[in-house]
Amino acid sequence: MDWRALDEHILVKPGAKAGLAKRDPVSADLFPDRKAAEKRCGECADAINDLQDRLWAERTRALLVVLQGIDTAGKDGTLRGVFNACGPLGVAVTAFGRPSEEELAHDYLWRVHRAAPKRGMIGVFNRSHYEDVLVVKVRKLAPADAIEQRYAQINAFEKHLTENGVTILKFMLHISKDEQRERLQERLDDPGKHWKFNPGDLEDRALWDDYQAAYDTMLTRCSTAHAPWRVVPADKKWRRNAIIGAVVHGVLEEMKPDYPKPDWDPKSFTID
Ligand code: ADP
Repeated sequence: MDWRALDEHILVKPGAKAGLAKRDPVSADLFPDRKAAEKRCGECADAINDLQDRLWAERTRALLVVLQGIDTAGKDGTLRGVFNACGPLGVAVTAFGRPSEEELAHDYLWRVHRAAPKRGMIGVFNRSHYEDVLVVKVRKLAPADAIEQRYAQINAFEKHLTENGVTILKFMLHISKDEQRERLQERLDDPGKHWKFNPGDLEDRALWDDYQAAYDTMLTRCSTAHAPWRVVPADKKWRRNAIIGAVVHGVLEEMKPDYPKPDWDPKSFTID
C-alpha cells in the first residue's frame, strides 16, 4: 500500500474527534502479510538512513518523531525496527521518565525543548511532553486547571518548533488490553525480560480506562495541521514497524533533503 493511503487510516484529522475506542489495534488489512511487511520495513529503514545523511549534509532542518503509548506498547521495539539502520550519528533518542527535582523546578516543557533535535538531526522522543497530560492527569500530579491549559500550550510549542524548521511526526502506539496482558505476562515468564517488569505497570493497567480517556482527549485536542497525531495499530509488532517506517520514509522523502552543491569545482583539485 502506498504510504499516503496507509496514512489516511492512521491520521487523526485536525479538528475531528480521535475516536480511539473505535480504532482497531490489529488492522490486518493495512499489512496482511508478515514477510512483505518486514521487507518493506527493512527497505524503509535503509531509505531513512540515506535521507538522514542528506538532512545532516544540508543542516537546515530537523525531524522530530514522538512515540507515545501505554506500557509495553512497543516504543523501544519501534526504535530498533525503524531507526537502527541510521546508527548513532544521525539519530538522537531521548527517553522521558519521571522528572528529576531540577526538571520539576522548571516548567514542564523546559526539558522537552532542550531535547528538541538540532538542524540536520532526527530526534526521537520515547515518551514526551504528552506525559504531562497523560500520567499527570490520570494520577492527578498537577492541578486540573493547570493541565487543562496544557493542550493549547503544547500546540503553541509545537507550532513554534515547526516554524523554526522542525517537522514533527507523532505516533501513538495503540494496543489492546489483552495484548498488554500477554506482554506483561511474558515479562514475568521469561527471566531475560524480568528487568523490564515494573510492579507500577500493574497499577497503571488498573487505570486502563482512565488512560484511554486521557489519550483520546489529547489526540483530539493536539492533532493540529502543523503536527497531527497518528494512531498506529500496534498489536502486531511487525505491522507497527512497517507502518511507522513507511510514514517516516514518506514524510522524509517529501522534505527532499539534498546534498548541498559545493561552491568550488572538484575538478580544480589534484591530490598527489
Ligand atoms: P519506560 O516505561 O518508558 O520503559 P521507565 O520505566 O523509565 O521507562 O518509565 C517512565 C515512567 O516515567 C513512566 O511510568 C511514565 O509515566 C513516567 N513519566 C514520564 N514523564 C512523566 C511526567 N512528566 N510526570 C510524571 N511521570 C512521568
